[in-house]
Amino acid sequence: MNGLSFVTPTAGGPWETYLAQVDRVLPYLGRLSRWAETLRRPKRALIVDIPVEMDDGRIVHFEGYRVQHNLSRGPGKGGVRFHPDVTLEEVMALSAWMTVKNAAVNLPYGGAKGGIRVDPKLLSHKELEKITRRYTSEIGLIIGPDKDIPAPDVNTNAQIMAWIMDTYSMNVGATATGVVTGKPIELGGSLGRLKATGRGVFVVGREVARHLNIPIRGARVAVQGFGNVGSAAAELFVNNGAKIVAVQDHGGTVYNPNGLDLAVLMETVQRDGSIAQCAGAERIENERFWDIETDFLVPAALEGQLNAERAQRVKTRVVLEGANGPTLPSADDVLNERGILVVPDVIANAGGVTVSYFEWVQDIARFFWSEDEINMRLEQIMADALRKIWDTAAQHKISLRTAAYVVACSRILSAREERGLYP
Ligand code: GLU
Repeated sequence: MNGLSFVTPTAGGPWETYLAQVDRVLPYLGRLSRWAETLRRPKRALIVDIPVEMDDGRIVHFEGYRVQHNLSRGPGKGGVRFHPDVTLEEVMALSAWMTVKNAAVNLPYGGAKGGIRVDPKLLSHKELEKITRRYTSEIGLIIGPDKDIPAPDVNTNAQIMAWIMDTYSMNVGATATGVVTGKPIELGGSLGRLKATGRGVFVVGREVARHLNIPIRGARVAVQGFGNVGSAAAELFVNNGAKIVAVQDHGGTVYNPNGLDLAVLMETVQRDGSIAQCAGAERIENERFWDIETDFLVPAALEGQLNAERAQRVKTRVVLEGANGPTLPSADDVLNERGILVVPDVIANAGGVTVSYFEWVQDIARFFWSEDEINMRLEQIMADALRKIWDTAAQHKISLRTAAYVVACSRILSAREERGLYP
């Protein structure tokens, strides 16, 4: 009962966070709340062993996961993460957030996620390829263009998606471009996918700013995480006249009240793998990141970063969740009381999966769109989804997160009910 399937939730961990978010939406679901347990239990979780012969001849075993949280509205969809902290519990939560996200923006997908517990920085290119291919073969039982479609997430990229596509295709005996999204353009990838998550973060931020009368020109932005999401969002904010006053990543925190130079930040990451040694910026204590005065705070790294204590200290107007699950429920309450608007992950970072959807549609149709068309459709879907969630929040006087869950969970559970139970 109550979400105690597969794992016992860790206190303060991502699955506990997700379950608390579900509890908050139930009072607004009416008769559909009868199906609530559907939200609390992943449909299916596969744990796989990945043995790899390393360059030095050692045989090393890694653990990998693919969790399909819910498939009521369509095939599973969600990224694959390579990180030393990956656990089954984390992948469960990430898969559940994909279910909610896909429904919040009304994409015809269920929710899934995968991961391997590994530090990819410690692998050679060949070892990375071997681990990816063996993982793909092991989860090949449950993925496929009509079953479950992986994509990039933390520490995975277009090259890794190409290996997944190739391995799956070799195993089924036919080139299956639609098995994975976020591929290189030459292999059926989509224009605009690389920066789509960051673009979506910016578009949602801009729409929210319009509601709150915050001008983007001159706005102060702090970004945690300077990977695919954080860097692309920062770029769009800067191109629209905002200032990036602080950036934090795994290597440290840099600050410049007059705005950091984006080109220098990008070069520094290219060179060092971190922004920490960025020129033209003051290096500050990591914890001070949360005290910096901003208009937008963009957590775009990992889960559980914004706890209640940090939420008491942040001096911002809008928290834009580029990461999945960066805010703990206790912090949500504090921010809410303090009048700081939280734009939840399930809408703020949905741009990536939205363009993944476009990629999948293009692969199925074998007909490819221009980048302008992709960006235009992305903006439209994001703005429409935000409007619906904004109105729902106003109607019930609830947070944007709970409103997003009301919209999404109503869709998920209606589909569940209409399909009925088998047998
Ligand atoms: N990993 C991204 C996310 O968390 C994208 C998933 C996808 O494109 O399927 O939304």
